[in-house]
Amino acid sequence: MFESLSSRFTSAFSSLRSRGKLSNADIENTCAEIRQALLESDVALSVVENFVAQIREQSLAVLPTLQSGSNQGQAIFNIVNAALIEILGGSARRIRFAKNPPTVIMLAGLQGAGKTTLAGKLAKFYADQGNTPLLVASDLQRPNAVTQLQIVGESIGVPVFAPEPGNGVGDPVKVAKSGIDFAKSKLYNMVIVDTAGRLGIDDDLMKQAISIRDAVNPDEILFVVDAMIGQDAVRTSQAFLDGVGFDGVVLTKLDGDARGGAALSIASITKRPIMFASTGEKIGDFDIFYPDRMASRILGMGDVATLAEQAKKAFDGESSAKLEAKFASGEDFTLEDFLEQLQAMSKMGSMSKILGMLPGAGAMKKQIENFDESEIVRTKAIVQSMTPTERRDPKVLNGSRRARIALGSGRKVSDVNNLVDRFSAAQKMMKQVRNGAMPAGMGAMGLPTMPKGPAKAVVHKKKSKSGNPAKRAIEDGQ
Ligand code: GDP
Repeated sequence: MFESLSSRFTSAFSSLRSRGKLSNADIENTCAEIRQALLESDVALSVVENFVAQIREQSLAVLPTLQSGSNQGQAIFNIVNAALIEILGGSARRIRFAKNPPTVIMLAGLQGAGKTTLAGKLAKFYADQGNTPLLVASDLQRPNAVTQLQIVGESIGVPVFAPEPGNGVGDPVKVAKSGIDFAKSKLYNMVIVDTAGRLGIDDDLMKQAISIRDAVNPDEILFVVDAMIGQDAVRTSQAFLDGVGFDGVVLTKLDGDARGGAALSIASITKRPIMFASTGEKIGDFDIFYPDRMASRILGMGDVATLAEQAKKAFDGESSAKLEAKFASGEDFTLEDFLEQLQAMSKMGSMSKILGMLPGAGAMKKQIENFDESEIVRTKAIVQSMTPTERRDPKVLNGSRRARIALGSGRKVSDVNNLVDRFSAAQKMMKQVRNGAMPAGMGAMGLPTMPKGPAKAVVHKKKSKSGNPAKRAIEDGQ
């Protein structure tokens, strides 16, 4: 979502870096560019003015203390990075658990903000950490909110307390209160209360939220806000803060193409931390909000920390260790390994999300948006249509085998040829890396890049004498 902001920041800094020794006028120009970029991203004016004033003051102070232009550029970059982290709330805060369980989390926000979806995500997140959450369906207003929560609860194996059908029937305060009693009696250690929103701020909504708050005495009230509503987010959050009050913010729909102003305005205006980020409709599209990682993304440095965490989760320890050992021992990277990696990558989510976390992603916005997700599915289908022997040793793939694979995967023979050729090229590249050379074109996470378009002609070596891949790798490597 921060692509446009990120590309503006990136270009401001690259022009700053290319300038040699910096003058006060350069600082003023950079500040003007930053100001413009933030305003265009819908950041609240007061936040922009404070932010830019801080950058200007600190930059002008540091400039004379540094001799070289590149040191100056880096120092200003560091100042902006620190200021961004600060307006995003400083450091990440976690949920405060109650001394006497259950810990009660109440969700508040406008209708459609994503509360019910978030209730499920939070429940799953905490259940995975060994907690025993109970979901309470106190949104008795929005059509189907109760059923939606029940379906989410069932899909993640978390019980839902829903004594009323909703759709305008039942007393939400009573449901919330009895939900807490039920959780206590059944020893759940966490209760997540979903509440009703309205399309806009109104008195009824606030009164109901306040009554629920007073009935359940929550440990955390989380204000859930759709990041796509831009400037409105500030007004809405202020109204909720003055009305029901809240302890933390959850930004939803960060996957959308909003300009990101909400994220940058809310923490500094409400003085409440952004605690979680929701980045899609699926249950796993959710994470703790890390101000430093977000600042890093905005500045075009990507979010390598999150990427690494997700990769660790997706690539289970055993297969990574196996692959590493294989690589170290000089064995060939086979199509079987490649398939395993493709499968693990699918677990990490969409390719555009993965690519979006890489440094410089802002500059690749178009390519990332246009990435054809089904390419991975098609590639997987081709590899899955091969026999284990073919996957281990693609050199056995003669014409008739290739025709069979094409038929089995519903692709053309030329697609099979393409994959095999590109794979052989990547395999060769890996061998060079192992032998100490550093060829260009290695993909992220050590995956071979699979560029689209016609593959370069691959010179097929004459068939190896050995049928043993390990031996053959040694033969090929020499
Ligand atoms: P509620 O009225 O606050 O309970 O909102 P819901 O949880 O029903 O969410 C409203 C809509 O937004 C639903 O269609 C959700 O699938 C969708 N939604 C929720 N969170 C996200 C998100 O992070 N990204 C996207 N793209 N959609 C979301």
